Amino acid sequence: MASSPMSTIDAHTAIAGAWDVVVIGAGPAGAVAALGCARLGLRTLVVERSDFPRPKLCGGCLSALGLDTLDRLGLREALERPPAPLVRTIRFRVRGRTATAAAPPMRVIARDAFDTALLNAATRAGAHALIPCSARVDSDGVVALRAGSGDLELRPGAVIDAAGLRGARPARDDDSAPRAGAHVGFGATFASDAIDLPMGELVMAAARGGYVGLVRLPDGRLNAAAAASASMARAHGGPAGAARAIAADAGLDPDLLPERGWTGAPSLTRARPAQEGPVLRVGDAGAFVEPITGEGMSWALATGAAVAEHAARLAADPSAPPTWPAAHRAVLGARLGRCSLVARALRRPSAPHLALRALGAAPGVRDRLVARLAGAPRPRRRVA
Ligand SMILES: Cc1cc2nc3c(=O)[nH]c(=O)nc-3n(C[C@H](O)[C@H](O)[C@H](O)COP(=O)(O)OP(=O)(O)OC[C@H]3O[C@@H](n4cnc5c(N)ncnc54)[C@H](O)[C@@H]3O)c2cc1C
Repeated sequence: MASSPMSTIDAHTAIAGAWDVVVIGAGPAGAVAALGCARLGLRTLVVERSDFPRPKLCGGCLSALGLDTLDRLGLREALERPPAPLVRTIRFRVRGRTATAAAPPMRVIARDAFDTALLNAATRAGAHALIPCSARVDSDGVVALRAGSGDLELRPGAVIDAAGLRGARPARDDDSAPRAGAHVGFGATFASDAIDLPMGELVMAAARGGYVGLVRLPDGRLNAAAAASASMARAHGGPAGAARAIAADAGLDPDLLPERGWTGAPSLTRARPAQEGPVLRVGDAGAFVEPITGEGMSWALATGAAVAEHAARLAADPSAPPTWPAAHRAVLGARLGRCSLVARALRRPSAPHLALRALGAAPGVRDRLVARLAGAPRPRRRVA
């Protein structure tokens, strides 16, 4: 396996190093966690199994929490090349009916460029990157690296598991199964002029059993991201069939969606302990609900940004009490609860019927409903 130009170190030098922190996975959570650790002066190694830039299944909509986190970290540059357009309106399609609502603050990003910009910021801050390199971690914090030359072992002071939905720990018998009825995710990025979708508009098409979101990416391509019950995906022969069936049910022309090029994600709703000994989890590796409220990247950025000080404490004192679970709850607690409620409501057979009623609401009411769904703070009441 050839080393990537994004690598700043080779496997043999990495194995000889004394690392305070090893971060597994260089998505938004891992890149921002590595950046935070490097800024604290920790000797930080981030390992990533895919060469960068790499495609990532995602709807591409970054919500207010993520935008604020980027501002706080001085990382707005990640939204600049290419410029990430603001989402202005959301067009809902349910059973042939259409309604629009003002979008809560959100920008559309292309994951390949965005994730690369974040990783570059981490290495500029002093973190080392070893790519491509797949890693596993056990609950004692021993990291097994699979790089070009075979298997190698590292024992850093702390490990940050940022390896996405599957996580970096081998599955165990006592792991909780994905929640019953949890949706599976799938998506495709494709060029098309046939769909009348200006930049800055998000189309959400919903049907019984699933939904598809469509946006135009900064480079002009279209991005379709969907979630559906596993039974629906199976019944329609896989992601392409399921996405086209949802589109048809919602009243869109299914032939506008491609027949090929769809990729899938595992069961979406899951949670693992935020900390097990020296292993701290961030982003999807810790908790993810469903893409409908467009917050996964924001959670990844927010937990990635918050974890560094907890990793530093562990690296300095391996017997330090576990402080990350409470901090993780403080960052995400209420958001996780709200998204779980929305996700459960969406899985009910009556969801399209309820959505139709919501679409019939007055535009101002609809805008507020959408803002609440997306986690925008409640506007303050004026005291007379
Ligand atoms: C269909 C769909 C639509 C979505 N739409 C949106 C949206 O519109 N807005 C939004 O905010 N979120 C959305 N999300 C969620 C969002 O994509 C994730 O929440 C986000 O990518 C999580 O970031 P992360 O850094 O935790 O994980 P990831 O982005 O998954 O990054 C994990 C990284 O770890 C690497 N890795 C994995 N295993 C290993 C290993 N063993 N060793 C080394 N490296 C490894 C992977 O290659 C990857 O680069 C959507 C998700 C899906 C499935």
